[in-house]
Amino acid sequence: MIPLAEARRVVFDACPLRAPEPMAVDAVLGCVLGLPVVAAVSVPPFTNSAVDGFAVRAADVSGAPVELKAVDTVVAGSASSPRLEPGRAIRIMTGAPLPEGADAVCMVEDTTVAGGGTVVIGTAVAPGANVRRPGEDIAAGERLFEAGTVLGPAQIGVLASVGLAQVTVHRRLRVGVLSTGDELTAVGQALAPGRIWDSNRPLLIAAARASGFEAVDLGIAPDDERALAEAFADASGRCDAVLTSGGVSMGERDLVKVVLERLAPGSMRWMQIAIKPAKPFAFGVLAQGTTPVFGLPGNPVSSLVSFELLARPALRRMAGHHRIDRPVVPALASEALSRRPDGKTHFARVVVHREEAGELRAVPVVGQQSHQLHALAGANGLAVLPDGTGVGVGGAVDVLLLDAEEALGAARTSVLRLLGEPPVDSGTGGR
Ligand code: AMP
Ligand code: MG
Repeated sequence: MIPLAEARRVVFDACPLRAPEPMAVDAVLGCVLGLPVVAAVSVPPFTNSAVDGFAVRAADVSGAPVELKAVDTVVAGSASSPRLEPGRAIRIMTGAPLPEGADAVCMVEDTTVAGGGTVVIGTAVAPGANVRRPGEDIAAGERLFEAGTVLGPAQIGVLASVGLAQVTVHRRLRVGVLSTGDELTAVGQALAPGRIWDSNRPLLIAAARASGFEAVDLGIAPDDERALAEAFADASGRCDAVLTSGGVSMGERDLVKVVLERLAPGSMRWMQIAIKPAKPFAFGVLAQGTTPVFGLPGNPVSSLVSFELLARPALRRMAGHHRIDRPVVPALASEALSRRPDGKTHFARVVVHREEAGELRAVPVVGQQSHQLHALAGANGLAVLPDGTGVGVGGAVDVLLLDAEEALGAARTSVLRLLGEPPVDSGTGGR
């Protein structure tokens, strides 16, 4: 057996960062910038009003209430604005260019339109009040984002605000997902005796998508060398990386590692990793290119754990991410997390929740075997149990959070709660 860290090194070394390329801003959500972005223009680009109201000279309204002649209106989108003469006011809308001669805007709430085309300004304003100056958000020439920035909604909005329709990013990886096994039947088809539905492919396709990759469904390959070789040839032409499940254990029909050895000579590594679940793992880079193949174990829980610990971080690295792993947080065991010494690090499926006092508690789910996928679906974390006898009740344990939002008690800390409203409970919501 080799330590997990060594297995990750082997994999990471063979999964170099993909070169960045230009991409339309509407397609870059979740992608990582490959080059820094510098603003060519200022935002706002011109002086404009921050409110709906009346553009004035602050000096004219210092003795408020005062009545001014309201001479004109400027709306957002106006190409230009009339000049404001002393003793006058110009009605102005949010975002409209500030008239020359004006230096402040009175909010409409502080004004009363009087008869005869005049307005009473009820409150004095300081020069610059309710006025947005050019460059207050972004100055032309400013470095907006460094290479390595992950592009979320706010970053994408900023790019558009400076007029960028295209940026250079590490493209979303296309990750192929192949199930292997003579016993597998695609969902939607009837099950013959001795067969099971293929759950790993939907599971891993979803896992790939949830991690920001594009998933390519490569179907099911039987336990047959030729069929597997064909599936790999097909995959290497249209995928940046391939996830397979099954066929990497000690059985005589475990042929993924055999075929990989043939197609990826030199780079293929069949490993026994000192972890439980997910001990067996095969890895190779297909000879015809740069397509890494992650041979995940077949048991569904092992498949997902192997994806989380090996494939996902390696793929995120290839896609330019610096934060490649899930967060690991310290928690206290609400129940014993027992195990036997076996030279491996165990990853126990647990539910993490936040106590009222703020500390995190971990409770193991019932069903810790590697075929018990339903139990995994009820967990939100993997408790990391180093070799030994485990952790007793109340003991400290590190937990890898598969669903950090849920584990950290999103409802408990929601903004509604801070505002004194009861959290929305999905079970009773709407009633
Ligand atoms: P293997 O490593 O191929 O021997 O598979 C280990 C176990 O995982 C066996 O019980 C398989 O039937 C099961 N298994 C393998 N692939 C899948 C799959 N795609 N969906 C559900 N179970 C699977
Ligand atoms: Mg199999």
